[in-house]
Amino acid sequence: MSYNSWLECVRGCGRRYSIYDVVYRCEDCGGLLNVEHDLEALKTRSAPDWKKLFEQRARSNEWPYGSGVWGKKEWVCPQVDDENIVSMYEGHSNCFWAERLGKEIGVPDLWIKLCGNSHTGSFKDLGMTVLVSVVKQMVADGKPIRAVACASTGDTSAALAAYAAAAGLLSVILLPKGKVSTAQLVQPIANGAQVLSLDTDFDGCMRIVQQLTEDKTLYLANSMNALRMEGQKTVGIEIVQQFDWEVPDWIVIPVGNLGNVSAIGNGLLMMKELGLIDKLPRLACAQAARANPLYLSYQTGFEEYKPVAAQKTLASAIQIGDPVSYERAVKALKKFDGIVDQATEDELANAAARADRTGMYCCPHTGVALAVLFKMVERGEIKTSDRVVVISTAHGLKFTGFKVGYHDGTLEAVEARYPNPPLELPADIDAVSAAIDQAIR
Ligand SMILES: *Cc1c(COP(=O)(O)O)cnc(C)c1O
Ligand SMILES: [Zn+2]
Repeated sequence: MSYNSWLECVRGCGRRYSIYDVVYRCEDCGGLLNVEHDLEALKTRSAPDWKKLFEQRARSNEWPYGSGVWGKKEWVCPQVDDENIVSMYEGHSNCFWAERLGKEIGVPDLWIKLCGNSHTGSFKDLGMTVLVSVVKQMVADGKPIRAVACASTGDTSAALAAYAAAAGLLSVILLPKGKVSTAQLVQPIANGAQVLSLDTDFDGCMRIVQQLTEDKTLYLANSMNALRMEGQKTVGIEIVQQFDWEVPDWIVIPVGNLGNVSAIGNGLLMMKELGLIDKLPRLACAQAARANPLYLSYQTGFEEYKPVAAQKTLASAIQIGDPVSYERAVKALKKFDGIVDQATEDELANAAARADRTGMYCCPHTGVALAVLFKMVERGEIKTSDRVVVISTAHGLKFTGFKVGYHDGTLEAVEARYPNPPLELPADIDAVSAAIDQAIR
């Protein structure tokens, strides 16, 4: 069977492009593009057969199917040659039962999808494996691509730098100076990327990279590029697969540029279209209150949309005031009866710390999602019997400054409710014993 996919305008004007065209917006109406698939061809395999195939391939050694993304190759990017795939066996991240935290908040069926347990420590690897593979194919086919470029709040750049290095391609990375964590800054440096630290914010870097990539030999790797979404959509599929093909009631997602929520929605819609599931979960988008354009738009029933100037937030990867995928996200939220809520600095930091006390190690963005979850449960919007999955977007170890600041009590606008600083004691057995007795009492 031959499967096919192409780029198509999201605004429904019908304009199509090849996935190998260097184009990020519809040349007729300016809309973003989505990857569309030949669903009739995909329907020639039955839903139970797709499930069986995906299960057989999971973690197998047969290249490239052991990857959580490439195990679903026919649904993601059927055309690219296996030898041009650039994969580090991303995907298949843990979805674990957060039993203690769930019981504490009164939602015992609470699960955390650890998308940050990945090669570069965030879910961005899932989309980047697809984008970089397509670029490698284009280069192999003789297209004149000199480098792959992105603007980033720190995780996109880490993923691009790693996958480009694995493919032997040059990556060019535009970062807002002083606004990403030390770990995030050093990741692309280590991978040999050309790192440019600009005196602006993410939105400023995004504007420059869009101008830069008008030169078609510099290929744009931001999530504006629809290829990223194809890899990320496997998260929605993988969650359902991890529950033996049962659909949860809610998925809670921290959002910034709004690509990921749209991608996860696309994966779930494709499953429904192809008969693997017969209902959809509801989606909840969580924003930082200091960078909340989607939340503000939601308040108007998505009638109005205004970009905001994003303020400094601990959730630095979602410090975005003018999200590129706004239209895509609104479409998804309407189809999934979605809601949008926000979290303050105090709420996000304390939510992350509270979850850490039950054994997690949450990044600030996961803290945003958890804070929104707690509020939805308090409002009765999420019910005690609901099965809820929270998307944890990055690994906590990338945000050491956030953790240290929390437990030191030095974070601005945060009153730490779960601080646990180390006790400094003389090297004296009596002092040590006394401290332990006090802790146990
Ligand atoms: C990129 C990112 C997000 C936001 O995803 P969008 O697709 O931009 O909405 C959230 N959390 C982390 C850690 C990220 O790196
Ligand atoms: Zn169009």
